[in-house]
Amino acid sequence: MTTRVLVTGGAGYIGSVVADQLLARGHAVVVLDDLSTGHRQAVPAGATFVQAGIGDRAAVAALFARHPVDAIVHMAAVAVVAESVANPEKYRTINVAAAQVLLDAAVAAGVRRFVFSSSCTVYGHPSAVPIPEDAPVAPMSPYGETKLAFERLLATYAARHGLSSVSLRYFNAAGATERHGEDHDPESHLIPNVLAVALGKRPAVDVFGTDYATPDGTAVRDYIHVDDLADAHVRALDIPPDGAIAVNLGTGRGSSVRQVVDAARRITGHAIPATARPRRPGDPPELVAAVQRADTVLGWRPRRSDLEEILASAWRWHQAHPRGYRT
Ligand code: NAD
Repeated sequence: MTTRVLVTGGAGYIGSVVADQLLARGHAVVVLDDLSTGHRQAVPAGATFVQAGIGDRAAVAALFARHPVDAIVHMAAVAVVAESVANPEKYRTINVAAAQVLLDAAVAAGVRRFVFSSSCTVYGHPSAVPIPEDAPVAPMSPYGETKLAFERLLATYAARHGLSSVSLRYFNAAGATERHGEDHDPESHLIPNVLAVALGKRPAVDVFGTDYATPDGTAVRDYIHVDDLADAHVRALDIPPDGAIAVNLGTGRGSSVRQVVDAARRITGHAIPATARPRRPGDPPELVAAVQRADTVLGWRPRRSDLEEILASAWRWHQAHPRGYRT
């Protein structure tokens, strides 16, 4: 059966891939995005596009009146940790208050299924890795706090309004598909910044923290291919409704910053100079997902998330799009 899915943030890096996969599996897709960080060119041709903010009450009500939807994948957000420290109010306004406008409109329109882009930042500095979903939550940034606040709101909407939801706690989204890659300005993520050096767009990559208690002293993260992430969203729409649950999306394996830079050197054939910098406040040494629940609940396992495959796919995309979506 065709499901009609609203994808908020579908002009963004991950949202465009989710929209692509939904269309490929026969669903109808409406993308709601204000293009604040996304790209019109990233919205798949088969999707209906509505340009508006998720907190624009009139626009959101008009959208539901015009396009009945069965389910929502909510990915629109502001998502730069450092910016959230500088401007926490912006993060609370968009990621919680505006998102609640969307949520209320969804309930009023009779939507019963909701998938939310949450983040491993809800765990803060975990006391042990890999991190299971029932580990204590203690975000270290306003960004992480807004993700947790919205997860909690979803739990109250499940109880009060029968809206069943899956909060997908992504670890580090990375890689590219043939059509979609990462194009943020400014870019805060490691892999596009490493590849920007190989493309001659930056002189060197900054390595923040070289004295962590990790095997090579640099921070360890769990990189997950954007295609694998998108697949988990499509699966999350299919499972039997069950209140509000949270599921990690990661591989269960960590890679250090140094390992990422070394792999990028092999793949690009470029020397990629790296500059050691002090640790950034709030950056934990190691974030790696426990992945059992994703397998049990979603029947999901990553397929393309080998580090070399992630980097090779991102490199292909950046070479084909040296100026991002403008090329
Ligand atoms: P992105 O910036 O590429 O995409 C976000 C999209 O949302 C953009 O197209 C932007 O224009 C849109 N948007 C922002 N505010 C909006 C608003 N008020 N109304 C309508 N549209 C709005 O980011 P991304 O990396 O694709 O991240 C997508 C989601 O995944 C976000 O919710 C983010 O917090 C979450 N997430 C990302 C990562 C990661 O590694 N990239 C990790 C954990 C969680």
